[in-house]
Amino acid sequence: MTRIFSGVKPTGHLTLGNYLGAVRQWVAAEQKPDEALFCVVDLHALTVEHDPARVRRLSRQAATLLLAAGLTPEKCTLFVQSHVDEHARLSYLLECTASDGELRRMVQYKEKAAKAQASGEGVRLSLLTYPVLMAADILAYRTGEVPVGEDQRQHVELTRDLAVRFNQRYGYTFTVPKATHPVVAARVMDLQDPTSKMGKSGDTGPGVVFILDEPEAVRKKVMRAVTDSGDGGVVYDPAARPGVSNLLDILAACTGGEPTALADGYTGYGALKRDVADAVVELLRPVRVRHAELAADPGTVEAVLRAGAGRARAIARPVVDEAYRAIGL
Ligand code: ADP
Repeated sequence: MTRIFSGVKPTGHLTLGNYLGAVRQWVAAEQKPDEALFCVVDLHALTVEHDPARVRRLSRQAATLLLAAGLTPEKCTLFVQSHVDEHARLSYLLECTASDGELRRMVQYKEKAAKAQASGEGVRLSLLTYPVLMAADILAYRTGEVPVGEDQRQHVELTRDLAVRFNQRYGYTFTVPKATHPVVAARVMDLQDPTSKMGKSGDTGPGVVFILDEPEAVRKKVMRAVTDSGDGGVVYDPAARPGVSNLLDILAACTGGEPTALADGYTGYGALKRDVADAVVELLRPVRVRHAELAADPGTVEAVLRAGAGRARAIARPVVDEAYRAIGL
């Protein structure tokens, strides 16, 4: 049995990037309740300035959206991170395993710390230790596979390093996990700035497609996507032509095609954008419809999360207890 674990942060509305890079893989991967666990990682939402009521609302919305996207509580365990104490308990032991230097080298930390500093907000210590808590999320379940977007590669590498180090120092305790990424669209880029990833923090971002966007909003954003300067035609070349390549990646992910082959079918950007918009609208339509139904029934979602937390705790507690014993407590 290979156990699967992954999570999403309730820091904003979920995006097409989250869907193509992560959630779609999760739906394909769900197996049995104790083999696939998916988590709304709300503790991770506290690493930057946050509004408490909004975090709570977005947590429930993320869970509702994951169910709407096709996760089924009969086949997987869906829960909220803060409902299971073991994540924070294990995180401390891993802080005693990680080094200050390796955390400061994390690319996301450097980017987010620079942003927090520039905004005058100051850098929370938890922003630095974030990848350690993420390692705890994963290791507490003896996870074998972590289906994530490309941006999480470095954090999963750190998780592996910490697992190996802990096992070497204190005896075999953790499974060493590996990341899995989708074949296409592992890193969906912002439609207005195709050199940075499509991220959910820009809530009103014109370059960010949200899963719950109305079809008209999706069309508008895709039709206004920046393509690259000069008229090089429709060519798949992510380094030199990031804008058009991003559109081809999205189209490939939506239609099951291959970006280079798809490029051959277009001579102009307009037709490509129209097809991308249609494909994204069709891909997201059933999720939006199902989300509306589930959102009208919050009691059901709460019950799923409660049951999920119970199942998650039952798996994590003995693992974390074992880690406490191994480290000498
Ligand atoms: P974010 O706040 O950037 O959406 P999350 O940690 O909540 O970050 O992301 C949840 C999952 O979605 C992760 O597996 C992450 O790798 C994936 N993901 C996020 N943005 C993108 C993107 N633009 N393209 C592909 N995958 C993405």
